[in-house]
Amino acid sequence: MKNQRVFDETADFRRVLAGFGERSTPQRLAVWRFFTQSACARTMEDVVGALRGQGLGQATIYRVVHLFCRLDLLAGIRDEAGTMRYAPRHAGHCHLVVCRRCGRVADFHDCDLAVAEKLIAAQTGFAVERHFLDFSGLCPACRQPEPRKRLEHR
Ligand SMILES: [Zn+2]
Ligand SMILES: [Zn+2]
Repeated sequence: MKNQRVFDETADFRRVLAGFGERSTPQRLAVWRFFTQSACARTMEDVVGALRGQGLGQATIYRVVHLFCRLDLLAGIRDEAGTMRYAPRHAGHCHLVVCRRCGRVADFHDCDLAVAEKLIAAQTGFAVERHFLDFSGLCPACRQPEPRKRLEHR
């Protein structure tokens, strides 16, 4: 299933990485594609397993995932088993809500935290420039009581 939330065209990927002073490499593009083509947040194990056939080693994949997290292109959120799952962020300001059970991801754009930032600035004397905030919960499918229905959207 193609994920329309985030850019995944090669040209866009190259442009975004260039904006951070980073190069687009085939390995980085392969890792990015893996995440953008998934409707769910995925584990390190998932990406390593999926890209092993393309000749990408675990160490390379770890480095790329951590780079993307540092650039805020990927968000990392723990699921209910305590495993880190990663999901791509929309270009521009947005927050993610991730299902703790199945890893399904949705975007949230209207965070309206400008007031909180002003309060924090007033109380701490900091010049607050940005915030990092992601949400975890149960997606509509996982909220249904029948155990069979929970997994249907995977
Ligand atoms: Zn779910
Ligand atoms: Zn926000």
